[in-house]
Amino acid sequence: MEIINRMTGGGFEQLVFCQDRETGLKAIVAIHDTTLGPALGGTRMWPYGSEEEAIVDVMRLARGMTYKAAVAGLSLGGGKAVIIGSPADKTETLLRAYGRFVDTLKGRYITAEDVGTCQWDMDVIHRETQHVTGCDPARGGGGDPSPFTARGVYNGIKAAVKKRYGTDSLNGLTVAVQGLGNVGYHLCRLLAGECARLVVTDINPKVLQKAAREFGAEAVATDGIYDSHCHVFAPCALGAVVNDETIEKFRCAIIAGAANNVLAEERHGDALRKRGILYVPDYVINAGGLINVADELYGYQRQRVDQRVAQIYNTVLDVLTVSEKEGIPTHRAADRLAEQRIKQAKMYKNSGQREVPMVG
Ligand code: NAD
Repeated sequence: MEIINRMTGGGFEQLVFCQDRETGLKAIVAIHDTTLGPALGGTRMWPYGSEEEAIVDVMRLARGMTYKAAVAGLSLGGGKAVIIGSPADKTETLLRAYGRFVDTLKGRYITAEDVGTCQWDMDVIHRETQHVTGCDPARGGGGDPSPFTARGVYNGIKAAVKKRYGTDSLNGLTVAVQGLGNVGYHLCRLLAGECARLVVTDINPKVLQKAAREFGAEAVATDGIYDSHCHVFAPCALGAVVNDETIEKFRCAIIAGAANNVLAEERHGDALRKRGILYVPDYVINAGGLINVADELYGYQRQRVDQRVAQIYNTVLDVLTVSEKEGIPTHRAADRLAEQRIKQAKMYKNSGQREVPMVG
């Protein structure tokens, strides 16, 4: 694998390989772009089949964080880290060894929780480095990011509804929610609070019954959610749910949810546009959790987080407007906004000014 060529092609600044024989730690930190600020992104622990698989994943995820932070208007760059191994083999000494590596980067990379790591792990890492977010609220952490992600998704859905129907009221509209976990369940509560009609699914029958009881939601089988007649389909479980198999099934006007990597491939975004389905790009609408952890870097303030999460409404409208004006699919419009902000920031930096302008 031509690693440096791959870095050059994708515009990556740095790839750091870490190993510690004593604890068995094998980790890779990818710093994609720090134009807007230090690279923030979670640490994923996963038993990758090969080092190549881990490198490809960490680079893909780090690049995604650059775009997500840029569109959210944060003064942060994009990075990500992976620890190769099963989360079941996690030990305090391994996490502390990892924390010492993060510390050597002197704040160019700031870590957070991700798949296979949790708040407790961040508290352990914090014993070795300041460059970590998502810690215990008692120590200045922002706590569980899911309610903020859900609120951001709700705001984004309202913006898309406004674009499509001219008013952002959800009263009487049908929303199909796939996945009733930390984000999906919160989202249902917000939607039900506005008298939206809910169609829901989950692989966990208990949570499905609970949502049916609490919100008067119609429960459907997991494969029945795609062709539910609804105004909004909100994927809040898995990635790649818009794929060759599902694309013709959708009976919705809008796709807008929390899941990452909703499009199996970019071409599925083009296909949705052809079908007249308005897709709200995942990393634009699900930025609430990132906004929440990022705020810890400035001394966590709940009010500031709420304001920024509310701003997702306008950001989604900006993306949809660019898509409409330029005649491009919404996922490309979001990338364009992110790239514009980074380009402007580079120009500001080169001209000696320090403030980075906001999007929109
Ligand atoms: P979660 O694990 O708490 O919930 C996922 C839910 O989906 C679970 O209830 C699970 O049973 C259900 N599920 C799994 N497979 C399913 C299937 N085939 N059909 C229907 N339901 C299925 O996760 P979460 O924290 O709620 O996150 C949901 C999604 O949003 C994930 O894709 C996550 O990456 C993304 N996301 C979450 C956050 C956050 O703050 N938690 C932030 C950004 C993005």
